[in-house]
Amino acid sequence: MTTAAYAPSRDLVSKVRRRLTQHYAARPATLSFAQPVLSITFDDFPASAADAGARVLEHHGARGTYYTASGMAGVKGPCGVGYTAADITRLVQTGHEIGCHTSSHADCARQDIFSTLEDLARNRDALMGMGAPAPRTHAFPYGETSGELKNNLPPRFMSARGILPGLNIGRTDLTQLRAYPLFGSGGMQRVSAALKAAAKRKAWVIAFTHDVSDTPSDWGTRADELDALLHEAHQLGFVILPVTAALERRLA
Ligand SMILES: [Zn+2]
Repeated sequence: MTTAAYAPSRDLVSKVRRRLTQHYAARPATLSFAQPVLSITFDDFPASAADAGARVLEHHGARGTYYTASGMAGVKGPCGVGYTAADITRLVQTGHEIGCHTSSHADCARQDIFSTLEDLARNRDALMGMGAPAPRTHAFPYGETSGELKNNLPPRFMSARGILPGLNIGRTDLTQLRAYPLFGSGGMQRVSAALKAAAKRKAWVIAFTHDVSDTPSDWGTRADELDALLHEAHQLGFVILPVTAALERRLA
């Protein structure tokens, strides 16, 4: 089974609506940390993220968060073949976090709240059927959300992650944590610059990608570049933690 790459609407109304969601903090918090924190997250997720991606993280004594869409298990898509239930088992056993990414990988800005909540529940049940604990963090597919959805997220989620770049420090919306892509033109350089800025402010950097290999897709990351980034983070004094573990380290 193959899924084509989907792109959310780029018309003016959609763009404005997307920008407005970030100004509405459904769950405002003031975050501070004792040391800078980095979270590496994998969306969807392709099998290579559980294989090459986990290997790089574990080599650095780190663990990641896998934002999993149950409907993408075993599905061949633009980022390669999707994960298997065995991947989930192994990731959980080795201390990685399984997060929620809806079951259907829906554009949540374009479906009604009730459908999204059903989608989230369906994903939780499927992931628990694969041996994962109920997810405590969610990532919006395509970063798409709405004020109404942010208001109505199930309370079992300690956080939700978007795709707008920025450091998570000081006044933060826990229903739309900021994150940098580890792909695209200049992507790795921007994350590297964010690490340097975050080190000075003891801030939390979240980065996201999909597949990990020597020949990644347009939405994926080279294993050696991920390795170099984690090395740089350690040099700068970062602790590298899954998203929920990072949030549990907050001082305020
Ligand atoms: Zn996704």
